[in-house]
Amino acid sequence: INRLVNFINTATAEVIEANAEVMEANATLSRMAITDRLTKLYNRGEIQRRITERIEAKKEAPDGENATSIIMIDLDDFKHINDTYGHQEGDQVLMRVSDLIQQRVQGLNTDASAGRWGGEEFMVLLSDEGKQRATKIAERFRESFAALQFPHGEKITISLGVTEMLIGEGADRPCIRVDGALYEAKNSGR
Ligand code: GH3
Ligand code: MG
Ligand code: MG
Repeated sequence: INRLVNFINTATAEVIEANAEVMEANATLSRMAITDRLTKLYNRGEIQRRITERIEAKKEAPDGENATSIIMIDLDDFKHINDTYGHQEGDQVLMRVSDLIQQRVQGLNTDASAGRWGGEEFMVLLSDEGKQRATKIAERFRESFAALQFPHGEKITISLGVTEMLIGEGADRPCIRVDGALYEAKNSGR
């Protein structure tokens, strides 16, 4: 009977261990599904999901509450970095820039998340900020890039668009609007 008890205990421990491994693998997969591989920021799908979630929350809130804004960031003349120093150096720049964005977002005194929207474009979701404060935050982001230094000695600047979500609109509207604002920033001198 003792041997049988031992056997059952060992078998049970193995099952528990295997279960823990599966749970850990699941957690890793869940993280990977929402993370951009190169920059480790949220991927586009996850930022889109968060924007939609915010819009839904806004629908149920009284007027003026749950102000939410988004900031779109695009690196200026990034093609020049790739063309001059190569794609690998370009990747390094994207990683450094993303670390800075993440640092700045985590340092904010507000609920915020940052994602890679595509190539050299990023989206920051400010879940509790109207457009005035969001604009100030965007301006400080822009300024913080001045301190970034790279081995090649070039400065990286960014252009930004900012918009606040309006009551009753779908998730695509603010994204189109913020893209338009960014386009304006590009066209007025970057
Ligand atoms: P603008 O100031 O108008 O934004 O000019 P730009 O050169 O930044 O913009 P453009 O859209 O012409 O070029 C973006 C470049 O970003 C082109 C593309 O090769 C590069 N890019 C996109 N994704 C990656 C990536 O993952 N790694 C690297 N190294 N480059 C990338
Ligand atoms: Mg771009
Ligand atoms: Mg660009």
